[in-house]
Amino acid sequence: MTSERTTRRFPVALGRLASASASASAKETARGGVATRASATALIRPQRHVAAAHADAARSRPAVGLGLDSADVRARMVERLRREGAGDARVLAAFAEVPRHLFVDAGLATQAYEDTSLPIGHGQTISKPSVVARMLELLFGGANAQEKGHLGAVLEIGTGCGYQAALLCRLGRRVISVERLRPLHDKARTLLATMRETRLRLVYGDGVIGHAPGAPYDSIVAAAGGSEIPQAWLDQLAVGGRLVSPVQQPGGRGQVLVVVDRRAEGFARAVHGAVKFVPLKSGLAR
Ligand code: SAH
Repeated sequence: MTSERTTRRFPVALGRLASASASASAKETARGGVATRASATALIRPQRHVAAAHADAARSRPAVGLGLDSADVRARMVERLRREGAGDARVLAAFAEVPRHLFVDAGLATQAYEDTSLPIGHGQTISKPSVVARMLELLFGGANAQEKGHLGAVLEIGTGCGYQAALLCRLGRRVISVERLRPLHDKARTLLATMRETRLRLVYGDGVIGHAPGAPYDSIVAAAGGSEIPQAWLDQLAVGGRLVSPVQQPGGRGQVLVVVDRRAEGFARAVHGAVKFVPLKSGLAR
């Protein structure tokens, strides 16, 4: 780490961050309806049980000759996302461009445009499109993103198969995505290289410490949730930046989607409903 600035510590435990839930919701509503979904209490499961998804895979037909490469297939998924409340044209345009079926095994490709999570190996899953759409829309609510009209400098924790990273490349100016499982990192690197994602840097590392060399970030998004938002993520968030992450609640009460905005005067936290992501784990795995 060469030019890392002396980071001011922000010893802000999540519980002590000012809750901006109410005002955040009001703002979201004004921007076009995220609040309805954001405040929904229904449990959203972006990552379902791997066994269930494997069972589905066994029932699925091979992808050959099914026209999955056609833009129409993606357009239908986009239309469904729109019907279900995803309203941001920039987010929907990204979904219309990225071929999701290439990010899953061929045996699962026929399900790639359904609103479902799918296994990507190593006990991990690609998140459900509607949940990804919701997280991306939330990122656009950050002050810097609103001002710039794009997500700016982005940090993604949990590359997985790289699908969300590909979407982020279309929405931000530069994207760093960190993955702790080597085989997933390698696979995503190979695939995304063929897609010539020039704005993207994939990092094999422990995302719990973020990625200081690329900081500060206008947008930070995590696809895995721990019991607390790591301090490093808060340190690496730009003033005017927004962080969206699942956080495990104490006492086995499941995860909630947490949004943290960094303002000149400090951090503001809002909770946006129940979610279920894979756990955020520390350390690397080969
Ligand atoms: N955005 C991904 C979702 C992958 S699931 C996609 O589009 O496919 C979440 C990922 O987070 C998993 O691949 C898991 O290995 C990874 N993960 C969990 N803890 C991590 C950590 N500390 N650092 C980096 N990645 C982590």
